[in-house]
Amino acid sequence: MLTYAEAIKLVLTHISPLPPVEKHLDTACGLVLAEDVHARWAQPPADNSAMDGFAFNFAACAGLETLPVVGQSYAGHPFDGPVPEGVAIRIMTGAPLPEGVDTVVPLEDVVEGPATIQLSRPCHPAQHVRVAGEEFAQGEKLISAGTCLHAGEIGLLAAAGIVQVRVYPAPRVAVLSTGDELVELGQPPKAGQIVNSNLHLLSARLREAGAEVIPLGIAKDNAGDLEQRLTSGLQADLLLTSGGVSMGDRDHVQEALEGFGFERIFWKVAIKPGKPVLFGKIGRLPVLGLPGNPAASAATCEIFALPAVRKLGGQPQPLAPTLSARLATGIEAGGSRQVFLWGRLHFDASAGYIFTPSDRQSSGQMRAMLHSGALLPLAAQAAAIEVGAQVQVLLMRLPGGAV
Ligand code: AMP
Ligand code: MG
Repeated sequence: MLTYAEAIKLVLTHISPLPPVEKHLDTACGLVLAEDVHARWAQPPADNSAMDGFAFNFAACAGLETLPVVGQSYAGHPFDGPVPEGVAIRIMTGAPLPEGVDTVVPLEDVVEGPATIQLSRPCHPAQHVRVAGEEFAQGEKLISAGTCLHAGEIGLLAAAGIVQVRVYPAPRVAVLSTGDELVELGQPPKAGQIVNSNLHLLSARLREAGAEVIPLGIAKDNAGDLEQRLTSGLQADLLLTSGGVSMGDRDHVQEALEGFGFERIFWKVAIKPGKPVLFGKIGRLPVLGLPGNPAASAATCEIFALPAVRKLGGQPQPLAPTLSARLATGIEAGGSRQVFLWGRLHFDASAGYIFTPSDRQSSGQMRAMLHSGALLPLAAQAAAIEVGAQVQVLLMRLPGGAV
């Protein structure tokens, strides 16, 4: 049976980033840039004041005790014309420095007369001036291809006049739930029925990872219904199914996929939970068959589907980041498969990040993932790990309130 390392390598080599698209900057947050972006102009466009105060020519005013104030420059309302030597103008933050002046004294460093100022503290030439182009020059490369755009990048690009950006689109992920026992959320389950909770778990997590989710509903455990519902997922960028990939009498997903020319790349990986996971392609469409057990569905989503989504979305690092954390409880030795343990992450001011494995790790329980911020991979045949040991966890999200 394949190891996780072998299996995820296969997934990532069979998936390429989606073709880039042009997007308005305001709709590009969370997407990855497909090309380098250069500034359309310099910032600031002209020398301007970094303080509310008075501006004058330092050399021309040296030795003068009192300076006449002959005008003003406000942001959006610059002083008209050059400033004569030996005088000052009132200037506010962001206002352009007119020709003839090079130095700004803040309001709090002067004594104001009716139309004059006296400096109350020594000043230096060119102080409190933001020089044209000091933030970036026209044509300067601001952000490289492969960068995920967040607020800081969006603000910088807006300042540089970038309206449209070339980005990898959010991957569209079709999710098909399978099982005769399932009912949609909102429908009261009858005897023997349960809610299709995997759809909601998977959708939430996929959206957190930046995907657009296309729910395909619930397919009954027969090839006809499965095929009919799968048809609506063929236009997606990734097709996920939940359930029906084990060895059971009613596990018909693989057979239904074959009706669409599915080429299997692997089935079954030496992991716990999630052993029956299936991966292959229908033409160019990658397909992941996740097991139906909720914690197995969630774990295989985390370790296979999310890296696939990140790769489709152009992320240069599709695997989850790892974080060093201390174990809050000891862990038993590993068995024949690599185990992925759900756990809570919190930050302790003296001990750093602490990982507390969930006390429910059963693949059949949705509660295994409750409050989980990370997964701890435990290699097959690994020795037991003692409480307090430093471990590397796969980060899902950082806890709030860290100091
Ligand atoms: P399967 O992989 O289809 O054999 O399902 C394994 C277990 O997961 C069974 O107990 C199913 O009832 C349960 N299960 C399958 N699909 C879902 C789902 N969409 N939501 C919640 N539980 C599910
Ligand atoms: Mg089933």
